[in-house]
Amino acid sequence: MKIVIIGIQGAGKSTQGNLLSEKLKVPYLSTGHIFRQLAKEKTKLGRYIKEVMNAGYLIPDKKTIAIVNEYLTRPEYKKGYILDGFPRTIAQAKAFTQVIDKVVHLNVSDKEALWRLAYRNGEIREDDTLAAIKKRIDLFHRFTKPVLNYYRKKEILIEVNGEQSIQDIHHEIMHKIGNQA
Ligand code: AMP
Repeated sequence: MKIVIIGIQGAGKSTQGNLLSEKLKVPYLSTGHIFRQLAKEKTKLGRYIKEVMNAGYLIPDKKTIAIVNEYLTRPEYKKGYILDGFPRTIAQAKAFTQVIDKVVHLNVSDKEALWRLAYRNGEIREDDTLAAIKKRIDLFHRFTKPVLNYYRKKEILIEVNGEQSIQDIHHEIMHKIGNQA
């Protein structure tokens, strides 16, 4: 099964993505994670990605599409995957030629996401300043909301209430995938 998870930062995409990956026995892949790895490299591309990420901006579509395509053609992703963080723009969605089964929108209000990020424990990411987080939420509304409509029209969008317990969200996703598959 090929599933895409979309949501604002703090919606719980990686938590739910990893749970789904375990349950459905397909690998989890996050573009944010890929870019954070690339940002550590002391190359021109690495430094560029780091700068864009730290400002809360999106990596340009052309670069993002090329990187994602390269990953998804690897043999481990042939049977399926849970993809977190892509596509984030209409250009990315249109360039994405893989046949996906479902797109899950983890719906959390901006207020709840900001609250969670402010009190999130564990690892603090270098690209996680309040200004960058606010920028990402703003870009989500401008560029990623249209992607939700794009998949709604294709009738593969699933809306999930992300303001529940981790287990309840997971069950709602499983239920909605099952009911519509
Ligand atoms: P995330 O972990 O999904 O919040 O992603 C962290 C950062 O990586 C984002 O703020 C962007 O700078 C970059 N990024 C991740 N996925 C994409 C994408 N599909 N398009 C452009 N930039 C992305």
